[in-house]
Amino acid sequence: MARYRGSVCRLCRRETEKLYLKGDRCYSDKCAVERRAYAPGQHGQNRRMRKLSDYGLQLREKQKVKRMYGLAEKQFKLTYKRATRMRGVTGHNLLLLLETRLDNAVYRAGFANSRSQARHWVRHGHFMVNGRRVNIPSYKIKVGDEITVREKSRKIPQLAEAMEAVARRSVPAWLEVTPDQFSAKVQALPTREELTMPMQEQLIVELYSR
Ligand code: SF4
Repeated sequence: MARYRGSVCRLCRRETEKLYLKGDRCYSDKCAVERRAYAPGQHGQNRRMRKLSDYGLQLREKQKVKRMYGLAEKQFKLTYKRATRMRGVTGHNLLLLLETRLDNAVYRAGFANSRSQARHWVRHGHFMVNGRRVNIPSYKIKVGDEITVREKSRKIPQLAEAMEAVARRSVPAWLEVTPDQFSAKVQALPTREELTMPMQEQLIVELYSR
């Protein structure tokens, strides 16, 4: 899979919004969006005032959500197609599918500092779901699932740092975390209200429905 290897802070600056891609740094005054709240590149400051077309708004929203969850275009579009086949509102379904990825749940539970770190650790097999090792970041978690850090992996120094840092961003109510057992239980599926990041999923639906 093609991977973006450039500076992730550029992605936030492009959206002129914090996407929280870098863990601790995102909460510090070193955050690039705090320092330079305009698009990157030579003409970034001039672009700030430009009015976007409807298509432009839809595209930017899709790019923002895709980058926030760390997906490539193909994966994101497949997730969208899956959302269209589900019952209910497509936009909500899309966010639900993104939110219930294993890498996202690991990040939300506070076992990683960022989604990219969570993805990396899941790929390396540091997590178990219901007692079985799962190394697929897109694995869909369900209500009642229990995510645990493998015994051998509990001594990773960055894991302790991440678990301490989670206080800054609070664990959502749909996950019940037991830090001393390195486990998180999925109590319910996340509701739209619990996804507090500013996302206008309707714009993404409009974009893909063109
Ligand atoms: Fe985005 Fe975090 Fe970089 Fe700030 S520090 S620009 S929120 S990735």
